[in-house]
Amino acid sequence: MNITILTLFPEMFQGFATNSIMKRALGKGVASINVVNIRDYTKDKYNRTDTPPVGGGAGLIEKAQPIVDALNANRKPNSHVILMSPRGRTYNEKVAQEYAQLEDLVIICGHYEGIDERVNSYADELISIGDYVLTGGEIPAMAIADSVIRLLDGAITKESLDDESFNDNLLEYPQYTEPYEFEGMRVPDILYSGNHTAIDKWRRKQSLALTRQYRPDLFAKLTLSKQDKKLLAEYDSGETPKWEIEALEKGKKFVHK
Ligand code: SAM
Repeated sequence: MNITILTLFPEMFQGFATNSIMKRALGKGVASINVVNIRDYTKDKYNRTDTPPVGGGAGLIEKAQPIVDALNANRKPNSHVILMSPRGRTYNEKVAQEYAQLEDLVIICGHYEGIDERVNSYADELISIGDYVLTGGEIPAMAIADSVIRLLDGAITKESLDDESFNDNLLEYPQYTEPYEFEGMRVPDILYSGNHTAIDKWRRKQSLALTRQYRPDLFAKLTLSKQDKKLLAEYDSGETPKWEIEALEKGKKFVHK
């Protein structure tokens, strides 16, 4: 997959592409990122890309010509073109999964007070990353590129993606590391049982309860199985169920560090 980012601040993407999982994924050829400086396309004799708004008002607005020329020079026939805008469709994991199927994505970043309205008609859609205003579309573009690239084959292990938050409208279960006890808080014993059926059941229960607590909007979209309802009833009772006690008793000896 190729992602082209049109921006007035290409240097903002240096750290993004040269660290951690993105660096590895890009290095392995899982995806490529092409950052294009919109200023390279201005026809203004003073190299300007923005002017005060027609009709008056605060700030500077990015002119249409440099953006549209940058887009036309860098888009492909199969590109999906998105424009970062507080007005757009709200981005989420489902949209990330949609975009991960694309061969070519072009992201237009606005800056300053925004972009000449007429640029909107060159984009397939407007995308917002939430109901707040950022100084530019660069951080939204990074959020989108990151969340899409990590879904591509070879970026991270498939298992890492399997139980992640927002898959099937569920939040991920809690994760722990050694030591067993940290400032009086213990890792749940079931995670040491070695019984993966019981561990999966416990994790499902936690996912359901966390989603209900933190994201009632997502929880409302779930179709709970009989087993899910039973797990939630167990959770609400606060008692350790029989299957968990049995798994602990039969399980491997605890290896607390
Ligand atoms: N004056 C605009 C308004 O009130 O809607 C805000 C412009 S904002 C300061 C500059 C640019 O940042 C926008 O053109 C857009 O590209 C980007 N931007 C800001 N907030 C965003 C958000 N929540 N989602 C996506 N892009 C955003």
